[in-house]
Amino acid sequence: MAGPTRIFTDIDYERNGKQIGYLGLPHSVTRSAYGNIMIPLAVVKNGSGPTAFFMAGNHGDEYEGQVALNKFIRAVEPARVQGRILVLPAANLPAALAGTRVSPIDDRNMNRAFPGDPDGTITEQIAYYIDSVLFPLADLFADWHSGGSSLDFIPWSGFNTADTSPELLRRSLEAAIAVGAPLTVNFGELEPGVASFAAALHGVPKVGGEFGGGGSVSLAGVRLVEQGLLNLLAWLGIMGEKPPRLPETRLMATPGLDCFVHAPEPGLFEPFAELGDTVEPGQPAGQMLFVDNPAREPVPVHFKAGGTVICRRHFGRAERGDCLYHLAIDWDGKF
Ligand code: ZN
Repeated sequence: MAGPTRIFTDIDYERNGKQIGYLGLPHSVTRSAYGNIMIPLAVVKNGSGPTAFFMAGNHGDEYEGQVALNKFIRAVEPARVQGRILVLPAANLPAALAGTRVSPIDDRNMNRAFPGDPDGTITEQIAYYIDSVLFPLADLFADWHSGGSSLDFIPWSGFNTADTSPELLRRSLEAAIAVGAPLTVNFGELEPGVASFAAALHGVPKVGGEFGGGGSVSLAGVRLVEQGLLNLLAWLGIMGEKPPRLPETRLMATPGLDCFVHAPEPGLFEPFAELGDTVEPGQPAGQMLFVDNPAREPVPVHFKAGGTVICRRHFGRAERGDCLYHLAIDWDGKF
């Protein structure tokens, strides 16, 4: 049995009103012997009702969620809320401040660190607090991602089919559709360690999504997340008019490893397909070029499966095994 968290906070999760404060995580370093990492957290509560938990900055170089949640914290009016909203806009704060996927302190990817460890590294301690304190409070968990520095995505909301009940799966699918993105992607079973997998183990419906990438801020992605927050709150009955039906969306899935294309050799990747393109099995995806040896023939790369390109490598250069493309296929919504 894991022990108590070392993270402390002045925030009272049961108090009505808007509180903008911090989770304090002791971190003793040369610059600050008795210092703390102060991770921003906002809690907005008004009376009884469900709890929505919104998180961004799980990966520090994915910005659309960080932008939208940062603005949402200042804009939200407690009087319009019925229930509670937890907002963790830069969950892996050291990574968010460094603009990196993994934490510069312990080199850990927070989205592989769940359920965390109260005695572990900095990233593991943050994950443990989320898992042991915030997930048990939540009726919905929304974790806003993008492709980070290395990948570009067309924007979509989605959910995973982690170890969970049929009822929970249905709730997660509905939540993903309720976001209101043009694509809703079932991204299948995830490995343990991912935040939304951990939320499912607490019985919490979970929604995620990818809203841009390339270490940049997608304007369309920010708008989608901003509207998606409001749509989810309305769907939950926490804020705004509950819509009579779920919005229109294109349902897609990513069934298995054949949906990925990986670099077969280190080199400069010349892509042959753009985001949103429809491709056939065996179609050329691009080629690896060797800038230090133009006499060498390029190595062709092919799509193994057919589908729609939802993700493409952002960087020109790739090492063997780097992801170049990710495809999704149309899905009938049945599990
Ligand atoms: Zn991410």
